[in-house]
Amino acid sequence: MATPKLDIELDDAYQAFLADRRRQILDRVSAACSRAGRDASEVLALAVSKTVEPEACLLAWRAGWRAFAENRPQELSRKLEFAATEPEMAEARFDAIGNLQKNKINQVIGRVALLHSISSSELACAVSKRCCAHGIVQPVLLEVNVSGEQSKSGFSPAEAREAVEALAALPGIRLEGIMTMAPRADADAARRTFSGARELACELRARTGLPLPTLSCGMSDDFAIAVEEGSTLVRLGRVTFDPAYELL
Ligand SMILES: *Cc1c(COP(=O)(O)O)cnc(C)c1O
Repeated sequence: MATPKLDIELDDAYQAFLADRRRQILDRVSAACSRAGRDASEVLALAVSKTVEPEACLLAWRAGWRAFAENRPQELSRKLEFAATEPEMAEARFDAIGNLQKNKINQVIGRVALLHSISSSELACAVSKRCCAHGIVQPVLLEVNVSGEQSKSGFSPAEAREAVEALAALPGIRLEGIMTMAPRADADAARRTFSGARELACELRARTGLPLPTLSCGMSDDFAIAVEEGSTLVRLGRVTFDPAYELL
């Protein structure tokens, strides 16, 4: 099922909202970096565009957004096809987030800068095979269920430790780090989840000898916490695109 779209007019007021909101988001990211003694250049904010039409991505581009993320292959294709017709957006980056079914792998590989959602060894092998068949190397993240919530997919931290060397050796994919999602509406649990992800990434670096530089952590409700805990990639949907979302 596709994500329902926000009911918004793509007018001048919305264009101004996108630019103001982006500025506020980047200010929050900078402040979180300062608190953590980090440089703001270490963090890239992705505009998660699943709840808007492709034309809104163009307005977001004009507001300064350069990187987008989509969670459904079909919606990703719509956005990529649109961006290809807009010369302004030629350099736009798109990432794939969210569950990936095996029969949709071909719609994603080679078209995204980063695939965030390698959630099992089985999926990793399937993606590896497809990439090899297409002669490409796809940068990927392991999706890890750090919080241990039943509802979340991904490797458990123990499974990630056990599998990482084999995954790092797979041809056609390049492991760049890990992605995780925190429990909703619980700042302490979010912080524990993100610090756990950071520590796990350290362990995986030690096991593989790979740099694994990317920590994809943080969404609208918890991105400042994620940045304080070391996130390098925040995935921002509602806060970016929804005027009704209150940025506190
Ligand atoms: C939708 C989505 C986001 C963005 O969520 P917001 O709370 O709207 O910022 C981030 N990551 C994934 C995997 C998503 O599906």
